[in-house]
Parts: sequence; C-alpha cells; structure tokens
Amino acid sequence: MSYISLYRKWRSQNFDDLVGQAAIVKTLKNAIKNDRLAHAYLFSGPRGTGKTSTARILAKALNCENGPTAKHCGTCQNCEKITRGYSVNVIEIDAASNRGIDEIRELRERIRYAPVEGRYKVYIIDEVHMLTPEAFNALLKTLEEPPSYTVFVLATTELQKVPLTISSRCQRLDFGRIKLKEIEEHLMQVAGKEGFAIDEKALNLIARVAEGSMRDALSLLDQLVSFSGHKISYDNVITLLGTADEELLFAFGDTVVESDIVKLLELIKKGLEEGRSTLQVTRDLVAHFRNLLHVKVGSGEILELTADYFARLKQQAERFSLEKIMEVIRALSKAELDMRWHPHGRLVLEVALLELLEVRQAPMAVPRLTRDDLPVAIPERLAQIKSRWPDILESVKKKTLFGYVSLHEGDPREINNKGKLVIGFRRGYVFHKERLEEVKNKQAVEEAINEIIGEKIAIEGVVDNDKKETTLSAHAVADFFEGKVLT
Ligand SMILES: [Zn+2]
Repeated sequence: MSYISLYRKWRSQNFDDLVGQAAIVKTLKNAIKNDRLAHAYLFSGPRGTGKTSTARILAKALNCENGPTAKHCGTCQNCEKITRGYSVNVIEIDAASNRGIDEIRELRERIRYAPVEGRYKVYIIDEVHMLTPEAFNALLKTLEEPPSYTVFVLATTELQKVPLTISSRCQRLDFGRIKLKEIEEHLMQVAGKEGFAIDEKALNLIARVAEGSMRDALSLLDQLVSFSGHKISYDNVITLLGTADEELLFAFGDTVVESDIVKLLELIKKGLEEGRSTLQVTRDLVAHFRNLLHVKVGSGEILELTADYFARLKQQAERFSLEKIMEVIRALSKAELDMRWHPHGRLVLEVALLELLEVRQAPMAVPRLTRDDLPVAIPERLAQIKSRWPDILESVKKKTLFGYVSLHEGDPREINNKGKLVIGFRRGYVFHKERLEEVKNKQAVEEAINEIIGEKIAIEGVVDNDKKETTLSAHAVADFFEGKVLT
C-alpha cells in the first residue's frame, strides 16, 4: 500500500473532529439544522487551518443518506464517495494550479444539471483569489443566479485579493490560526494512534513552528518520523528544522546584556554550525527578541509557550530595558533585509550584533580631571601623543573593542624614566587599568601608538589616589602598596 501522509490520513472527517474552529462549526451546524444554508460561502484564513476539510465535511453533511444532517453517518455510499474523492457531486477546483478559466466555463455548462445522487452539488474552489478576471466574471454570473441544489465554497488565504463583487455574494467565515495547545493535543493524539514516542518539548516546538497550521504541524511530524524513526526528541526537531535551539537563543540574549564580544562571535559560529543559514539564525534571533518584547510589555500569553519557557523568557526580559529589546529587534530585522543581497551574510550579522554592543559600551561622558592639576612632564613626544590621542584611540578601537573601552577611560600622563608612556586612570578605575595591561590590549595600544606617532613606546597604567579622601578605598590601598600611586 502506498504511503498516505499523516495530514491526509488524520484529516478531520466530521464537524466534531475539526480542531480549533468551534465558531465556524457551530454556524454551519445551525445552518443545516435550521435549513438556512447559504448558497455560497467564502472560507478565508491561513493555510492548514481546515478550510478544505470543512468544505468536504459540509458536502457530506448535505449529501449523507440520512441528511442533510449536522451528524452525517460517514458510512453510507454518498459519505464514503466524498471521503474517497469519487463523488460526482463534489467538484473541487484548484484555482492556484490553472487559474480556472476552463474549469469555470465547464462549471457554467454543467451547473444546470441537477445532482445525480444526493441532494446537492458542492463546488469547492480552492485559492479562489488566483482566478483570472475572466474566470471571476464567469463565476460571478453563476453566483448571481445559482440553482437551488448548488452550494459554493470558495476558499482563500488572501481575502483582500477576492473581488468585492464576489465576496459580497458569499457568507464569509474566517478561519483563525489554530491555537498552539490545540495543535499540541491533536499531534499527541495522532502520535498515540500511530505509536510514535515524542517528548513534550519536541511537541511544543513543532506546534510553535507550525504557527497555527495543522497541516504544517502534521507534515513536520511526517518528516520527523522519516528522519528519526518512531522515537522523536527535541534534538531531532532542532536538527531537522535547522533552527537554533533555545539554549543558543538564551545565550545570545545573555551575551548582548553582558556585552561579551568574544562570546558573541563564538555563538554566531556555533549558530551556523550544522548547516544553519545566517538568515535562519537571524530570524530565530528576531523571534526570540520578539518573545522577550511580548513578555516585557505583559502580552506574553499570546505566545502560547510552555510555563517553563515563559518563566525563562521572563527572567531574561528583566535584564533588558524595553528600549534595548526594540533596538535589538530593529537592528536584527535590518540585518535580515541586508543579508538578502549581501554576499557575506555572516558578516552582516556579526556587524549588526557588534554594533549593538558597541553602543552599550561606548563610554558616556565621564567627568575628567583637568590637565592643570596633574604633575606631568611634557617632553615633545608626550605633546605629540596627546595631540594625536583621538587618532590613537580610533586605531585601538579597530584592533580591540575591550582595549579601546579601557583606554578611553585613561589619559596619557607622562613618559617616565623607563621611557614608558604612563596612562593614568581616575581613582577606582583599577579595573580598566588592569584590563589595559592585559597582553593583547597592551600590544594593541603600543601598535597603535607606533602607527600614529611612528615610534615604539611601551605603556603602563597608573590609578589616581584622591588625596582629599581620608579613608582609602580597597582599590586605592592596593594601588598604594603596588607603589603606583601618583604623588
Ligand atoms: Zn452518510
């Protein structure tokens, strides 16, 4: 027997099976019970939300030997034929595949003949917005004077493209995206009946990715079974989708808060491993920050996440200001657009993320000691360094952002008797002094000086001691004993 996709196999066969469209089911059931059926329905809504399934169920409800009934038997000849797709009374036209000119013409010819078996002829026109203007005109004429035994179901994913002349002649039913919980439950049922073992986290991710489309959710489940057999784990889903797993996304979030550049670049590298595209990683990041945004402004429940995931998002959202989250989303969305034409997508992502950090790291205006207060010897070279200091800073910035941030907090003070350039930091800024003296940063500064001044000069840092303070801070005490206090 040839393989039947899960979506087809488990497609809803009666009104009560339909997932997530309670209002529509109620409307149609009542219309049948009260004999108030419309001649034309317009089913609008995203793909995979049950439009065609509902149309077929309606056809069975109308043509069942026990009908018209809201509870068709499903076993009589008429029901069976419709289920199998053999019924001559149910005519399905896919406007997307051939734009419908011949079909609509034929429809107009045939519509005059009453149904041979059953009571109604049901015309289901899928993706009706794709019809050509000629086909629309032909359809319109039919809709204006439909024979009593016809019911039209026009289905569309793009309501705004359906001409008003058509939609105004139909009763419109809007199919909403199916709720995450409902998709999860249905997947669980299908998995149970098929004998698949699937963990909760995997189930939640499939449902989230499906974005309200049951068809997408079941297709994904199908692919997962081919990919990993009957036992499906969260990691299988991650690998198949090529999506970034939640650990990675939260790590990105933390790194942005902490402005950890090295870690950020590592994460990008990690994100791109296993064949993920830069675009995919960027989209996942945008989605993550969108989640943070919703949680931050208190509309997190629309995300329909598991309680654990929600709690984790909330925790991370607290580390961000709302402005920062929006800034990240804007920057990443722009990067997503840019990388469509840029040959080096990864570079675009890296720059976008680094710029976000840089904005955070660029020091705010810090009050500085006036030059006159400081006891500095000013040989010619020192004067030269001082006058070119902004250029030196710029050069360091290109080599190391961390080195730059620390250097920015210091000033060139003197060239000491060892021929070293002394860079002074304000009291309490020992952290910056120490970071500047790390080999990598020190080298970068020395190279920069060489580039700008044309002379190799070593550097060392000192931290000021505020003499007006009567009690010394721990930092100042440490500096004092290191003998690096300016006097
Ligand atoms: Zn029946």
